[in-house]
This record gives sequence, structure tokens and C-alpha cells, in this order.
Amino acid sequence: MTSIPSQSELSALALETARRCGVDLAASAGDVPTSSPVNGQGVTTIGWRDAAYVDEAVGRAQEAFREWRRVPAPARGALVKRWAELLAEHKDDLATLVSIEAGKITSEARGEIQEMIDICDFAVGLSRQLYGRTMPSERPGHRLMETWHPLGVVGVISAFNFPAAVWSWNTAVALVCGDPVVWKPSELTPLTALACQATLAQAIAEHGAPEHLSQVVLGGPEVGEALVDHPGVALLSATGSTRMGRAVGPRVADRFGRSLLELGGNNAAVVTGSADLDLAVRGIVFAAAGTAGQRCTTMRRVIAHTSVADELTDRLAAAYERLPIGNPMQEGTLVGPLVNKRAYDAMAAAITDATGDGGKVVAGGGRAHEDLAPDAYYARPAIVRMPEQTAVVARETFAPLLYVVTYDEFEHAIEINNAVPQGLSSSVFTQDLVEAELFVSAEGSDCGIVNVNIGTSGAEIGGAFGGEKETGGGRESGSDAWRAYMRRATNTINFSGNLPLAQGVDFTI
Ligand code: NAD
Repeated sequence: MTSIPSQSELSALALETARRCGVDLAASAGDVPTSSPVNGQGVTTIGWRDAAYVDEAVGRAQEAFREWRRVPAPARGALVKRWAELLAEHKDDLATLVSIEAGKITSEARGEIQEMIDICDFAVGLSRQLYGRTMPSERPGHRLMETWHPLGVVGVISAFNFPAAVWSWNTAVALVCGDPVVWKPSELTPLTALACQATLAQAIAEHGAPEHLSQVVLGGPEVGEALVDHPGVALLSATGSTRMGRAVGPRVADRFGRSLLELGGNNAAVVTGSADLDLAVRGIVFAAAGTAGQRCTTMRRVIAHTSVADELTDRLAAAYERLPIGNPMQEGTLVGPLVNKRAYDAMAAAITDATGDGGKVVAGGGRAHEDLAPDAYYARPAIVRMPEQTAVVARETFAPLLYVVTYDEFEHAIEINNAVPQGLSSSVFTQDLVEAELFVSAEGSDCGIVNVNIGTSGAEIGGAFGGEKETGGGRESGSDAWRAYMRRATNTINFSGNLPLAQGVDFTI
């Protein structure tokens, strides 16, 4: 049986944990209430900043940039190395705040902080590998090469559901690339943001790096908009809903700024006739019901071959009935709360739309623990068997709601996978090499993440993360995503003593 902490217990735990991470609670005091999805009650009140403060913060960051860009990249990496040590030291504390403010179960909250440590490791290595290429020049006695330079101030806007890791993906890489960061976190997760920032501030102070390399600005949409519109922000990296990206992208483009958009997903798994169903069931349940369906990579659709659809649906429904729902910080819980009432209402509305389209609820739906936590919104993860992929299936509902549709021909499964506006993650469960290869090929899934025999969520930091279409096209984290945080210069160096022109142009004077 789950036990939901009282308001005073949770509030005391949050404040004490934030303090341990180095947060100066007096300095961030204010009158904006914050709450926890765990019990739906208030945690504390906090101060919000305004657009004028964003302007000041960007000014301070620009000053820090002038100094930091002169520091050699490997020396910049040393700062990130120290930061990783502090994150490891505060791993449990930061995870506790993630659980309190975003509702993640302890194991996933710890995983989020581990991801921060991992990206720091990656960035430290990267600090010695910001390679530019040298190309053969067509002219004798000339060298043609490219160099990568720090870009400038990076603005980061982040979503509630990855309140810590997304910022670190951007920040660890930005710092080794020579860029300061100004961060506007989600309104729902301010204490996590302050605690994360405190760990980096400590590393910066110990390292003797410019104080304003990293700043957090708490506030509402107007703070985000000020960051979006500020001409001093060279790169705006924004993670959140497609609605937000649609507002932000054109505004940054209008001032010729660079943007990196990480937006909504509507991720599917194709389960073929040859799939290992044990594996598929485990992969699907984690990806669809884990994190209470609140990951951008959460699996929202299963496209099952008609020969396995009934058995798969029955097994998924049986697994869903066994999922322990409750206090995310209690051992054994696998499904925590939805972030708020709005999220629950959106899930209920989607189920109503789906049944209106001929869908049949085969598992879950409805609220859990309404008696124990009347102000919180624990949803029973739901599965709806759909006659086809209707409009409600094609939209992202940010909740544990999984639709099952069927197919006969594999090519049709790929069409269904691709026939949604979003393009973040996808997977295929199959033992058939041809199907697996086809799915990852140019004719296969059109997503930024395409997996075989694992679910759609739980990416590692080593690969570039992001998606196509309405997911925004951005890539962050590993691989060569660092290039978004630097500017490229192409250099031609003439050591010939002559002045031959390219393409054989003759301009003799
Ligand atoms: P949201 O769009 O409501 O808010 C995200 C952030 O954007 C918040 O900090 C918010 O204050 C800010 N914001 C909103 N409107 C803005 C505007 N007009 N200008 C500037 N800033 C603005 O999203 P959410 O509910 O916090 O998070 C859930 C959504 O985020 C889902 O759609 C999910 O798929 C997506 N998400 C995507 C990724 C990814 O990497 N692709 C990762 C996590 C979450």
C-alpha cells in the first residue's frame, strides 16, 4: 500500500535537500507558490524574475563569454570534470528534488542525475576533440581548413519532465565549447533548477572561472520570451511542447538567431509476427507506462501485426493491472503521479475521444489514490485498442495512454508509424533481419531515433538526441551535437608567395 507524504513532510524534505545542495533559500524567496505532484500540495514560495532581469543576466553572460572563450578548451573541460564530481556527491539529493517536483520514481530520478554525470564525462572528453578538418586546397602553397570557435551566450528553456538532465546536456557541452548559459527552467520545477545551478556555481567558484558562466532565471512565459527575443543570445535551445516551439522558432529566426528545438513526440513500436513477445511486453510497458507516460520518448502507439495483436494486447493489459502506482519515493512503486490536474484531464479527454472513434479501453484509465491524495493526480496507465489511427492517436497526450492498432503488411506498419506530425522516436520488435533493416533504412521510420528490439525511451547520452518534423529537428547531447554550440570559420592560408585565384580565374593587374 502506498503512503503519500503530508504537506509538511514533503516541504521540509524539499527545503532541507535544496539547502544541502547549496541553495540559498533566502536569496530566492518570493511569493510564487510551488507544489509537488506527489501530494498536490504546496512546497514553498519562490521569487520570479522579469524580462528586465533577463537583459541583465544576458549582459553578465556576455561579459563572462569574453573571458571564457580565451580559456583553452581542455582547461574548460577541467571545470566540467569538477562539476561531475559534485553531481555524483549530490546525486541522491538532486534525485529527491526531481521526485518531489516532477513526480519521478526514485530509480528514474537517480537515472536522470546519472545522465548529467554521463554528459559531463562526455563533455570532458570532447574538450580535447573539438576537431576542425583540413582539406586539400586546389591552389599550390595554400592550406584550406576549418576552425571551431565559441559561439556566445546559450539560452536554455526546459520542460518539467526532465527538470535537470536537459539543462546539463546543453550546459556541459556549451561550457567546453566556450559558451556561458542562461537557463529558464519550467515553472513547475524551480527548486530542482536552483539545486542544479548551486552545484555548478560551486564548481565555477572552485575553478576560478567567470562567476556568470551559468545563471538560472526563474519566471513565467515572459521570462522565456525575453530570452527568445534577446539579440545577445546566440543559440536558444528550447525543450518543451510543439506549441511552445511553434511560438519560439519563428521569433528566434526573425532576429537571425540560432535555435535548437526539442519538442513533442508521438512514438510508436511496430511489433511484427516474428517478435519475441516476452521482450516486447517488457520493452513496451517500461516505455509506455514508465515515468507515468511523461517522457518525450514515451511510447504512445503500438502497431501490431494481426497475428500477434490479441495475445500482445492481453499480455500488456495483464502487466498493466500489476503496475504498482503511488508515492514515487516509496520502494516498489513503478508509476508515480501525473504532474497536475491539467495533465489528468487531457488524458481523460483523449480516452473519451478515442472511444468516440471506436476504441475499446482494455486496461486502466481513471484515477488512483483519490482518497489518499485528493489534490494529486495518479492515473491508471491505460491501453486503448483502436480500429485505426484516428486524429486522437496522431496527437501527443502527455500521459500513460497507449493505443494499439494493427497491420498486415510491414510496409503499411511503416506508413502508420510515419503518418503523425511528430518524428522523435520509434522502434521495431522483430526477429526478422529484413524487417529490422528496412525499418532503420531510408524507406523506414522517419524519426530521429529508430530502435530495434528495445522500446522508444531511455536513450543514452552518447548519441545525438532529437527528432524530425514537429519534434523540431534539433540534436543535442552526444555525437557531433556540439557543433550547434560553436561557430565554424573556414580559413585559407597562402604560403606560396604568389596569388593564384581559385577556379583558375585570371585577374592580372
Ligand atoms: P511546455 O511547452 O509547456 O513548457 C516548456 C518550457 O517552455 C517551459 O519552461 C515554459 O515556461 C516555456 N515556454 C512555454 N511557452 C513559451 C513561450 N511562448 N516562449 C518561451 N518559453 C515558453 O512543456 P512542458 O509541459 O513543460 O513539457 C512537456 C512537453 O515537452 C511535451 O510535449 C514533451 O514531449 C516535450 N519534451 C520534449 C523533449 C525533447 O527532447 N524532444 C524533452 C522533454 C519534453
